[in-house]
Amino acid sequence: MWAGPLDFFVQLHVTERCNLRCRHCYQSAKTLEMSFEEVTAAIDNVKDAIRGWAMDHEMVVSPSLHITGGEPVVRKDLFDVVSYGRECGFSVSLMSNGTMIDSEAARRVADCGVADVQISIDGLEETHDAVRGPGSFRRALVGVESLVTGGVETNLNVTVSRLNAGEVAGLARLGCDLGASAVAFSRLVPTGTGAGLESALLSREEVAALYEEIRELGDGGGIAVTSRDPLAVVAGMSDDVPEVDVPIGGCAAGMFGVTIASDGTIMPCRRMDMPVGNILEHSFRELWVESPVLSALRTRDAYHGGCETCAYWAVCRGCRAIALAHARAGGADDCLGPDPQCPYWRPMGGAD
Ligand code: SF4
Ligand code: SF4
Repeated sequence: MWAGPLDFFVQLHVTERCNLRCRHCYQSAKTLEMSFEEVTAAIDNVKDAIRGWAMDHEMVVSPSLHITGGEPVVRKDLFDVVSYGRECGFSVSLMSNGTMIDSEAARRVADCGVADVQISIDGLEETHDAVRGPGSFRRALVGVESLVTGGVETNLNVTVSRLNAGEVAGLARLGCDLGASAVAFSRLVPTGTGAGLESALLSREEVAALYEEIRELGDGGGIAVTSRDPLAVVAGMSDDVPEVDVPIGGCAAGMFGVTIASDGTIMPCRRMDMPVGNILEHSFRELWVESPVLSALRTRDAYHGGCETCAYWAVCRGCRAIALAHARAGGADDCLGPDPQCPYWRPMGGAD
């Protein structure tokens, strides 16, 4: 039995429409969009699964809904979706590019009880605009300032690559100056329109340097400087790691979270274009147990090429989306191979 509480999130893409065209966007070209009734049915489907887990396994589950797009603010019934999610017991966050959020939109975000908003910032002004389009940096900052002024907890989300790895400290300062609560960094996944950016991926040594810098900045006070990347967690770990064969942390795909695309397609993670079903056609609870892809992600022996023999498997497993993108670049549709950017492999059994 899980000792709990289990934090479980659903990343819900309510649209694939967006007012920007970013170079590294992981979205593919799907155009279907669930109606409001379908979105609420999708939320009900997940809610039923969570209730079932709680009752059958005596678990305390803490569910959250991360609503994103595309750009979620383009959807006119966005705040109705937020309210419905909250009524169903989910803590609701928004993930936005920020460029459509003015003081009125910020007021509505605050009024409907959004827990926090994550705004994507991909570098200081020149870098961000090169990735997301001219003027988008200034417009995103207006969004951040409107939210902060409106009393909404606001975080900056940065996708890190060679395009912006030299700006980490500057971005932490920017977040602090804007009154953001945190600046969170995640690695670029070369998928979707970002598939052409392999040369911008950090090397193993650059990843190690990045997470050392983030740790040092995080200790500096003023603002939380963080990363949910499993490798960032491993980078700060002592050698005293529980070597169990059940995931207890690390990559959320198939374990602590799931993504629902705007047409209802269920994927292990927003960055893994690997459909396992559709929320409008399947019982989420059954799919969660029966999907071969989700089951394999939880099974040490299914991995190959490094993680399966690593002391950190239970708390890490690397980024499965990056492993998948790496394998696909070599012609294999495989999400269980090595995370090619990992500098931390350590043999099981405590040997050096
Ligand atoms: S080898 Fe895999 S489990 Fe081990 S630290 Fe690297 S990514 Fe994590
Ligand atoms: S696949 Fe990568 S981006 Fe997705 S949950 Fe795992 S670590 Fe995070």
